[in-house]
Amino acid sequence: MDLRDELTNIKGIGDKTASLFAKLGIRNVGELINTFPRDYIFYGEPVDIGKTRVGSRNVVEAIVYSYVEVKRIRSLTLVTMIVKDSSGSMRVTWFNQPYLRNAFHKGDTYVFVGEIKIKNNMRVMEQPEYYKPVVYENMRQELQPVYPLTKGLSNKTFQKAVKASRSAYLEMRDYIPDAVKNEYNLMDITESYGNIHFPMNEELLKNAIRRMAFDEFYKFLYDLAKLKEENVILTNSHKIVQGKIVSDFISTLPYKLTKGQAQAIDDILEDMGGSGVMNRLIQGDVGSGKTVVAAAALLACAKEGYQCAFMVPTEVLAKQHYESLTELFADTGLNIGCLVGSTPMKEKRDIYERIKSDEIDIIIGTHALIADKVEFYNLGLVITDEQHRFGVSQRELLSQKGDSPHILVMSATPIPRTLAIIMYSDLDISVIKELPKGRKPIKNCVVGTNYRNTAYKFIAGQVAEQSQVYVICPMVNTSDSLDVSNVIEYTDTLKTALPANVRVETLYGQMKANEKNDIMQKFMNKEIDVLVSTTVIEVGINNPNATVMMVENSERFGLAQLHQLRGRVGRGEKQSYCIFINGKEDDEEVTERLKVLEESNDGFFIAGEDLRLRGPGDFFGIRQSGDVQFNIADIYNHADMLRLAQEVLRRYKDKVIPDSSREIKQINL
Ligand code: ADP
Ligand code: MG
Repeated sequence: MDLRDELTNIKGIGDKTASLFAKLGIRNVGELINTFPRDYIFYGEPVDIGKTRVGSRNVVEAIVYSYVEVKRIRSLTLVTMIVKDSSGSMRVTWFNQPYLRNAFHKGDTYVFVGEIKIKNNMRVMEQPEYYKPVVYENMRQELQPVYPLTKGLSNKTFQKAVKASRSAYLEMRDYIPDAVKNEYNLMDITESYGNIHFPMNEELLKNAIRRMAFDEFYKFLYDLAKLKEENVILTNSHKIVQGKIVSDFISTLPYKLTKGQAQAIDDILEDMGGSGVMNRLIQGDVGSGKTVVAAAALLACAKEGYQCAFMVPTEVLAKQHYESLTELFADTGLNIGCLVGSTPMKEKRDIYERIKSDEIDIIIGTHALIADKVEFYNLGLVITDEQHRFGVSQRELLSQKGDSPHILVMSATPIPRTLAIIMYSDLDISVIKELPKGRKPIKNCVVGTNYRNTAYKFIAGQVAEQSQVYVICPMVNTSDSLDVSNVIEYTDTLKTALPANVRVETLYGQMKANEKNDIMQKFMNKEIDVLVSTTVIEVGINNPNATVMMVENSERFGLAQLHQLRGRVGRGEKQSYCIFINGKEDDEEVTERLKVLEESNDGFFIAGEDLRLRGPGDFFGIRQSGDVQFNIADIYNHADMLRLAQEVLRRYKDKVIPDSSREIKQINL
């Protein structure tokens, strides 16, 4: 079987199933086997009821102790019974599966698998899986893969399809020679495909994931090294000497720059006025004020007579930057444009024309800037904001539109310096350490779901004081892709809980770009008080009037991601608050992890604690998805693999050439 074979070539997959896979972006065998499980279920040894961990999934072997009861509560049918072992008893309950009443008999022994909660002082397992002990024994010792799914596509079907495609990876040739694998203890590629999909045990799974993470890092560093080889002799053909204009501009700002901001601007001016082309990363925590640093670079370059491009990952952010720069540069005589995917065609053509004819000095936009139709007159500077959302190649595509323009990238990801040097080996780095003065530190609280009503009251109070609020909606734990109806339902609940005059609106990923822009615009104009949104759909948003960030189901996020969310508030003079709702208060590990957010507002500290608490070996923990452009690899968790990839590259660059036909896919739900 070939990686490029269509899915219908797999036994048991017809057009209908293939179209379901297509919804997940999986169109051929290669994409199928490179879509890794998002989780694994381990059918472990049963534990005593008395020793089960509340709030977690447990396996219990117990005797049916009571008669099976059937109750009706409104439209629900409840099948429930008490089971016990030598250590204690618990209640087991199923909803809307009335046929189960005949499945169990007093005195029978079963294995139950499910999450334990406490209700009325009693342990309860709701909707558990149940097995006869012999059957369970056969399943044990295997980790069952759980794949990303969509409505109509079951995990079983996914598993079968992957099993039927095994030959595709069994026949794969490993690009890493045996000698190198042995030296660095890297698993063979066919073995790691086998174990990432159907792991025999945790140890093998761990090694399989390490190998896949290695591959992702290696390819990344390899591409970067190639890029650097090409760039190394670039001399500066856009010398920029506008120190005076920049310092005049800075003196008109309503605030004083922080030390880090001033240093970053100095670094940039020195680079752009020097003999080589600038390649610089500005690393600064959320809210550290990176935009004004970018503004200084844009001003200097545009005033020298060269064009500038400023690329950001979302339309909303593009609009926001466009507006704030238009205001900042009002007296400079510079022409600023904005180009995004949803810009109407006619307007787009007009913008293309004005970029080509040098009428536009500074163009701000999304990926739309990479389009072939965009041609510059004399591009001198390329800036990418929220760098982690772009691949190296996208940055490269944009800069190829000029004759080796200066490059500035901005990132809020708090990567430790040692790793940043590897990750951004082609860039010089300026770090903005401190936040602007006069900010009141955000007040944080991590609370259980029973605090919700208090939180709603608090939110109503803040709105009454003209402040605005973000609420990150709870996530539904289904295998379906993100449940839109859930956001809408939650918004309705919120509307009822809040006073009638509070304006609540919803924002979610699947909305059309211009609908999203509309809502964000209203939020910026203070026409919306409370914005309910799904997850981190919009990075970089700056609304200094927003003072509350409430995150439902905080336990489902990594700390770094929560820290990013928190960065949406605390951007102005008002006191800001973060309310992290912990849906797993009973789980001590989760609670300890979330408490870190109460201890500190420092991104570097948070990332470090996250790693310490989860440990570098915790591959089942929450991945910091969305932080960097990797799929399975995670800089925090797999820091050792990143270093290894660097070493292998340094020693064997000409012998170990990454396989470009493979691309690991991760489907974010
Ligand atoms: P980020 O680094 O997250 O991109 P922004 O550039 O969006 O942060 O800045 C956040 C807010 O801080 C903006 O409202 C900006 O005007 C303000 N700001 C930036 N620098 C300073 C400063 N030195 N003093 C006070 N406020 C500042
Ligand atoms: Mg920003």
